[in-house]
Amino acid sequence: MTAPVSIRNATKTFGEFTALNDVSLEIEAGEFIVLLGPSGCGKTTLLSLLGGFLSPTRGTIAINGRDMGDVSPSKRPTTTMFQDYALFPHMTLRDNVAFGLKMRKIGKTERHAKACELLDMVGLKASALKKPHELSGGQRQRVALARALAVEPDVLLLDEPLGALDLKLRRQMQDELKAIQKRVGTTFVHVTHDQEEAMAIADRIVVMNAGKIEDVGRPEDIYMRPKTLFAASFMGEVNFIPATLKGRDNGMAEIDSMLGSISLPETILANDALPDQGPMTLAIRPEHFRGVSTGAERMTLGSAKIADGAFFGTHYRAHLAPIAAPDMVITAHMPQSANIEPGTMVELSIDLASIIALPGHPQTPAD
Ligand code: ATP
Repeated sequence: MTAPVSIRNATKTFGEFTALNDVSLEIEAGEFIVLLGPSGCGKTTLLSLLGGFLSPTRGTIAINGRDMGDVSPSKRPTTTMFQDYALFPHMTLRDNVAFGLKMRKIGKTERHAKACELLDMVGLKASALKKPHELSGGQRQRVALARALAVEPDVLLLDEPLGALDLKLRRQMQDELKAIQKRVGTTFVHVTHDQEEAMAIADRIVVMNAGKIEDVGRPEDIYMRPKTLFAASFMGEVNFIPATLKGRDNGMAEIDSMLGSISLPETILANDALPDQGPMTLAIRPEHFRGVSTGAERMTLGSAKIADGAFFGTHYRAHLAPIAAPDMVITAHMPQSANIEPGTMVELSIDLASIIALPGHPQTPAD
């Protein structure tokens, strides 16, 4: 019903093109893993290696400690659920869900009982004898999930399963998917390019870019302590302030930034890829600029002029032009009570701990 997955140095080439480049990842049994990245970064290729629809050019895949090298898709302890979940239109929901069990020669009574149990879990028991065309998109998606789980895979592979749903339904189905995954305990590997979806459902997110893994961690880790410029920018809005690390002394790092010179405790620079000296970037989320200075552990990056602002309910989202670098645009979230009249001066005040120090500059990411 659940199993760990071990991907070691997996590379996949198509002719001259490298779709996956030396990817390694250990997934625990029962984990909900989300592969997140832009179109073409290799997410589906990695999922296909796990499902056995593609073989790695180099590297190995093991599920439950067993090498999958010679194991065909149908013999693997995996099931793949695709976006166009292809239910059989002429079959009832019960027969759709029981289909895989029929293929495995499970008797009628047993497979009907199992199908009803799963339809119950996805909230569709009362519709067991309906046909797919009588359902909404979200309901069809639930049937597809029940069908995928009926054969009790150790690992369920989901390729953009919510991609066809409208936003509201998508958010609702994310909650349901997460709850069902926790209930059944099966290892889920889920592909999406939607960072909000990834944050809503994942135990751990794997951020991918150009065939490589950029970062792996809990949603909180990747949002608050991303390891690369790409991971920082893919996981929500962020301001990049190019800087140069001058040196480290007595637990403090001396930094020249486009907004002036600052000293930061070395603890803020907890990224192994940062050099002792050289190009770096200060990454700051918009919500960490508050426009007012409130205390000792806060620091200022100088003052800035409000260019414009829009009301977002919980906050204003404002664009600011720093006095030290008037061509730079800083995006900041300001309190509902803030005066966001263009031309108003504010302090670029931030909590020290919210600064993310990253290697390289946005134009020339160090990877
Ligand atoms: P999307 O979100 O658009 O589905 P993805 O991250 O899943 O993207 P993949 O489908 O894994 O990306 O594709 C990665 C790269 O490999 C793409 O550039 C794609 O064109 C290429 N690719 C995938 N399959 C093949 C193939 N069979 N032959 C040649 N190139 C391929």
